Amino acid sequence: MTARRKRLAAEGQEWEQLKIQMQAMKQDDIAWREGRAAVYVFYAGEDVLHVAQEAYTLFMSENGLGMARAFPSLRQMEEEVLDIALDLLHGGEEAVGNMTSGGTESIFMAVKTARDWARVHRPSATQPEILLPYSAHPAFDKAAHYLNLTIHRVPVGADFRADVSAMAAAISKQTIMIVGSAPCFPYGVMDPIADLSSLAQARDLWLHVDACVGGFIAPFVRQIGYPVPDFDFTLPGVCSMSADLHKYGFAAKGASTVLYRSEDLRHYQPFSCSDWPNGTMTTPTFAGTRPGGAIAAAWAVLHYLGVAGYQEKARAMMQTRDALTSGIEAIDGLHVWGKPDLGLIAYGSHELDIAAVGDGLRAAGWFVVQTQHPKGLHLMLTPAHAPIVDAYLRDVATAVARVRQGSLMSSEAEVRYS
Ligand SMILES: *Cc1c(COP(=O)(O)O)cnc(C)c1O
Repeated sequence: MTARRKRLAAEGQEWEQLKIQMQAMKQDDIAWREGRAAVYVFYAGEDVLHVAQEAYTLFMSENGLGMARAFPSLRQMEEEVLDIALDLLHGGEEAVGNMTSGGTESIFMAVKTARDWARVHRPSATQPEILLPYSAHPAFDKAAHYLNLTIHRVPVGADFRADVSAMAAAISKQTIMIVGSAPCFPYGVMDPIADLSSLAQARDLWLHVDACVGGFIAPFVRQIGYPVPDFDFTLPGVCSMSADLHKYGFAAKGASTVLYRSEDLRHYQPFSCSDWPNGTMTTPTFAGTRPGGAIAAAWAVLHYLGVAGYQEKARAMMQTRDALTSGIEAIDGLHVWGKPDLGLIAYGSHELDIAAVGDGLRAAGWFVVQTQHPKGLHLMLTPAHAPIVDAYLRDVATAVARVRQGSLMSSEAEVRYS
């Protein structure tokens, strides 16, 4: 055993003391409340946070595993959360879904379900393959890795959106599933889901739309008047979707949804085991024990904000996006990549070392997320960023000026997202 390994204290300590220690531990964390980071935390204000916290603690001990018999409260909340999700994303009468712990689990379940569907409907695919736009989230690679499937990433077009003809050309006998993002995380652009839907129908493939980051905000962005292309179950080729409550749904972490066009498709999702001492155990998703708090917090925040609340958050996010985008474009040498549809953007330069600009921003106290292809800086905006637009743009301009003078060089570190 190493000398550094922490051991459990012999005697318990007072909570008040522990709480002080824990609060002190936060001092080096990123200052998300102050808008210093545009990643990881979706902050919609103290009131929303308070609702999520109270609702979470109210159901913190309850277990979603037992909702069918022991916790009708959780069952009702989960059903209502799913009703709301399916309504927002135009699921028809037949559409169904489940709550999961996050986007990664939602995607895992959709991939597993598509794989098992394909075993019945595409038996000729003996080494099944999934086609992804290059911009799709690594959760698909992770699912494929666990599920013994092959991933094929297809380069995106010049507009950073999925290149549907290149994807069509990449379809083989082994292809079982194609994916589009709404929007993709790296550039914030929506893939042409309508075209992917037609392709999926023409070739009898499972189309999953990854709306993890957009699913709970895009409907409201459209309602307040911004153009948002069709991306959901309105399109007949969409078989499944993932939409995270713990992102722009502003719920507590540990909450997402995986949605299916019909029960016929979801049929391949649950897992059941009876050959053990306690009898049949059937779980709809990956998890066994499921935190009641995550379900409760999602239910509470959806009801607390309502359509009007989400529209207000969407407006704050989009106005911030517009201000930042035009501010960045106004700085000589910088360009926003593509035409972002929601509040995620990436920007870079054809002439300047953008990683060095990122270093300058980091030195000025901003938490910086980079992209590698093309090299850029990434922002996922929330209402928390409305107050920082001017300060951020000033620091970008300063960093750019220093890079031009040659007084700021890139550290050339590996680009990492986590
Ligand atoms: C965040 C995200 C995921 C993964 O979700 P987690 O909740 O982090 O597991 C998948 N796809 C997209 C587009 C995302 O933004």
